[in-house]
Amino acid sequence: MTDCLFCKIIKGDIPSENIYENGSVYAFKDINAAAPHHYLIIPKQHIAMINDLQTSDASVMGELFLAAKNIATQQGFAEEGYRTVMNCGEAAGQTVFHLHLHLLAGRDLSWPPG
Ligand code: AMP
Ligand code: ZN
Repeated sequence: MTDCLFCKIIKGDIPSENIYENGSVYAFKDINAAAPHHYLIIPKQHIAMINDLQTSDASVMGELFLAAKNIATQQGFAEEGYRTVMNCGEAAGQTVFHLHLHLLAGRDLSWPPG
């Protein structure tokens, strides 16, 4: 999608700090980190939000979480623990409408989230 910030990041038109990539997903550092480790894991295919998921996208969701596990292992915080968050819609705080899984670690994360 031409007018999507994260599609532009995947294409390399907008710079990002890549942390992980495979055929299905791309992951990079969040520009406004909310924790010592804060990464965004996105599908290479443009899907705006959870509400738009089709049955055929089930594997994409699996790929996002497998990437989270792999990044946590590579970065060394898998054992300590981490949080994954996917906001859906403006009331939940979604600001970029290309599906993304937040991966946060490196500090105590309170619950429930705000
Ligand atoms: P959300 O609020 O769930 O839609 O998350 C969007 C996230 O994208 C926020 O945490 C932003 O800090 C992050 N973000 C926005 N623009 C960029 C960018 N150019 N590079 C990296 N992260 C970004
Ligand atoms: Zn997109």
